[in-house]
Amino acid sequence: MIERSLTHIAAALAAGEISSQELTRTYLDRIARLNPELKAFITVDAEGAMAQAATADAARAAGQGGVLTGVPIAHKDLFCTEGLLTTCGSKMLENFVSPYDATVVSRLKAAGTVILGKTNCDEFAMGSTNESSYFGATRNPWDVSRVPGGSSGGSAAAVAARLAPAVTGTDTGGSIRQPASLCGVTGLKPTYGAVSRWGMIAYASSLDQGGPFAQSAEDCALMLNAFAGFDEKDSTSAQRETEDYLRELRRAPADPARPLAGVRLGVPREYFGEGLAEDVRSAIEAAIVEMEKLGAVRVEVSLPKTELAIPAYYVIAPAEASSNLSRFDGVRYGHRAAQYRDLMEMYCKSRAEGFGREVQRRIMVGTYVLSHGYYDAYYIKALQLRRLIADDFQAALSQCDVLLGPAAPTVAWKLGAMADDPVQMYLADIYTVSVNLAGLPALSVPCGFGEGGMPVGLQMIGNYFDEARMLAIAHRFQQATDWHTRSPAL
Ligand code: GLN
Repeated sequence: MIERSLTHIAAALAAGEISSQELTRTYLDRIARLNPELKAFITVDAEGAMAQAATADAARAAGQGGVLTGVPIAHKDLFCTEGLLTTCGSKMLENFVSPYDATVVSRLKAAGTVILGKTNCDEFAMGSTNESSYFGATRNPWDVSRVPGGSSGGSAAAVAARLAPAVTGTDTGGSIRQPASLCGVTGLKPTYGAVSRWGMIAYASSLDQGGPFAQSAEDCALMLNAFAGFDEKDSTSAQRETEDYLRELRRAPADPARPLAGVRLGVPREYFGEGLAEDVRSAIEAAIVEMEKLGAVRVEVSLPKTELAIPAYYVIAPAEASSNLSRFDGVRYGHRAAQYRDLMEMYCKSRAEGFGREVQRRIMVGTYVLSHGYYDAYYIKALQLRRLIADDFQAALSQCDVLLGPAAPTVAWKLGAMADDPVQMYLADIYTVSVNLAGLPALSVPCGFGEGGMPVGLQMIGNYFDEARMLAIAHRFQQATDWHTRSPAL
């Protein structure tokens, strides 16, 4: 059963082929066996999960419940969960128990899901490897000497290792798509404003967006149906009609032999230039050829401002982080130093002890670019670039339906390989950060294997609120291929 997708598991529960308690026990046993090495979870709530599973089984027996009732899932440890630890992978919040649920969590609870636990992540979602977690680095289930990507590396690893059929994540500059790519699972970053950020601990508020990881596009649509949509508690939540993200994917194609007939695939020249590893390039090229066989048409497009995305992102994201993280001062929230002489020393020591190196680096960069005298030169400039990058996407998307390219320039690398070189790590975000700067939706689907037998992900970028169509295109590709069904031997 654990090899089956969320869609199949939900159907098996509905048909009474398996109970939520049996299913939850199976996942908990697997987590107990594999998590000590993989470190995909920070918190496992075996007792709570079994109790929720019993409630779900009772609801189903009484003829109640919906599609996701009784399905075990997990949440990135950045989403507030009432009564369970929410650490953000940081010593700062090592003992933080939220008094309320994030909207994403409460909606998934209302849908009847069972929470297995909270997944590991880079500290405050800052990173691309999961190595900045205070609780130890998550390992890539395909090769435990390699990173799973980040920052939602625990979520991606959990789905890849079949420790949960679906897990939530957050994406500020690629943290859903990049680990999905490196772990060989499907991950979706929705349009900015499509998913409520309420109760999702902020990294960079104008870029952060929550989304699902699962085995397939269909599974991601099922998850999104449960938690996306307007939320009055989030002032940046988009006021739109509730959507059925499965609607296009379930529609039968006019010509079953050519299910992608009429779809224009934009291939940005800049996404295939220098820096893209050969193994990734050939897997992506093969996926595009496969989609052409399914009837899609390839259109060459250009995103000329691509190289400006990293500098713009690494000014804007730290700037917002420096402001958001000011609340962790040992008074309002977080770790407090044991000894100090006065208030100022208490703040300084608490923050120096509570935050890891990468978080401190970003707070310093962010404070610098926002400071008087530098604001115009860095922050304002970065905002101007952000606008140009968003315009680039609109020009490209006017010529096609979706853009295709890699999610990451290489397959997963070895743990420690970039530990001393943050700039090298930032550069690996080249294909993902611009999407957040523009606020567009994008997903990554498995499309092959590269060096060392490691998975490669195909990134698809769509226009605002075009998730349903993107998911349908990804679904047609997955119906014709089996990359997404492969899993590591564990
Ligand atoms: N790697 C990027 C960063 O470190 C993206 C992280 C994210 O999306 N949360 O900022």
